[in-house]
Amino acid sequence: MPPTVRSQAAVLEKVGASLQLAELDLAAPGPQEVLVRIHASGVCHSDLSVMTGVIGTPLPAVLGHEAAGVVEAVGPGVTRVVPGDHVVLSWSPSCGACDECLRDLPQLCTAAWPAMFAGGLLDGTSRLSRAGEPVYHYSLISSFAERAVVSERSCVVIPREAPFEVASIVGCAVTTGVGAVWNTARVRPGDRVAVLGIGGVGLSAVMGAAAVGAWPIVAVDRVPDKLELARSCGATHAVQWAGSAEDTAEAIRSASGGGVDYAVEAIGRPEVGLAAFLSTRARGAAVLIGISKEGETLDLPLLSIPRLERRVLGSIYGSARPERDFRLILDLYLAGRLPLDRLVSGRLPLDGVNEALELVRAGLATRTVLLPTTEATGSHR
Ligand SMILES: [Zn+2]
Ligand SMILES: [Zn+2]
Repeated sequence: MPPTVRSQAAVLEKVGASLQLAELDLAAPGPQEVLVRIHASGVCHSDLSVMTGVIGTPLPAVLGHEAAGVVEAVGPGVTRVVPGDHVVLSWSPSCGACDECLRDLPQLCTAAWPAMFAGGLLDGTSRLSRAGEPVYHYSLISSFAERAVVSERSCVVIPREAPFEVASIVGCAVTTGVGAVWNTARVRPGDRVAVLGIGGVGLSAVMGAAAVGAWPIVAVDRVPDKLELARSCGATHAVQWAGSAEDTAEAIRSASGGGVDYAVEAIGRPEVGLAAFLSTRARGAAVLIGISKEGETLDLPLLSIPRLERRVLGSIYGSARPERDFRLILDLYLAGRLPLDRLVSGRLPLDGVNEALELVRAGLATRTVLLPTTEATGSHR
């Protein structure tokens, strides 16, 4: 068993502050836990939402929940990985035994979610500390750091050919977007799809729809440059936000020949959710991925639900089974069927984390990836 190690990490001390780099103590992995050297960590909007207080989590905490790296050591009883394995980390280390896991809904595991909000690992305690005082985990991972100790259930072994920077974003944005299309909606060839909100998650949904032969694929955003990017990732049509849900929905209906089968909402705002719903044709579904503020509501034209058999589908983490889907997504990437490189809009060292978060705040980055381990960043095709 390795002793406690030192790890440089980006700490959020309090809501409203920027992140501060600090040398923390990282305890050795306990039973069923794994020490991972972080090679790449994507910067996600959820990290920013913690900093602004929209998402609550115990502080001080090390943020970061979208990462890939190499297993350095394993605790007692670990069977899924061995040192040297390349892994993507899942922020939903499902237990396999609760009611939701038994219903094949590991993304809704009732053991993992409370542990996530408690700021520890699955046993409720943190492996991170500073001068003997605990520093909390965020999302059961904390990857804005050189190293992380995580549950072995968070570790999904990936092919060594997969570059770490692409693998890292499979841990959150890609799986959330692609999985909403493949798992939640189960889009089939020829289904008409709209994607509202072209960030990392929305672009991933566009790519997922293109990979399964959806047509048309209508990208929707306020920003013309993002619509162009969506076209380069497989969108067949582009609609600029028209100022209201009704007008935008009308433009999508027109572009899609009378309404879409699935309208994926990747923003988390009521007016965008309404536009998604109104853009669907009969039996169509709004697929709601975006995380809204607590207490937001969505008003829908009720009569059209029975009359047109319209539906609303919720999707968290792409309704994914990480141990299956991470590998599948990376295999398709390596085969040239998912152009995930296009999602990586920039790379920064760990001490560039606040700059990366500023790009998220300004809506300027598709995905900025931090590279905390600069001497090895994976092989690139
Ligand atoms: Zn995320
Ligand atoms: Zn469970």
